[in-house]
Amino acid sequence: MLKMTKQRTLLLDYLKKSTKPLSAEMVYLKLPQGSMNLSTIYRSLEAFEVAGLVDKTNLGNLAYYKIRSHEHKHYLVCKNCHKMIEIDCHVDSFLEVETKKHHFKVESHDLTVYGYCEKCQTLA
Ligand SMILES: [Zn+2]
Ligand SMILES: [Zn+2]
Repeated sequence: MLKMTKQRTLLLDYLKKSTKPLSAEMVYLKLPQGSMNLSTIYRSLEAFEVAGLVDKTNLGNLAYYKIRSHEHKHYLVCKNCHKMIEIDCHVDSFLEVETKKHHFKVESHDLTVYGYCEKCQTLA
């Protein structure tokens, strides 16, 4: 059971307004100074994830969080500038064929694609 404090409500609202995944550090820097400390943000984001309110994507040793929406999306993640590009999911039909072979009942999937964005490719 998720305990919603005033701080957590604020944090959740902030995530709802964001169009891209955010790390705890990014949230910390953007919230009014002193409103929440970093460890509280970490713990709250973890709690949101456990409660199924947000989706977590790991990039290196950082975790990025995004409000779980009804629209199921995937991300292209740039390993250089950490930019995340949202892409539509087209893997369901492919998975259906593959999982049927194993009589596997799928509940969910996630897919994150790592590489370099257009800008970073030209820099390399
Ligand atoms: Zn990049
Ligand atoms: Zn998908």
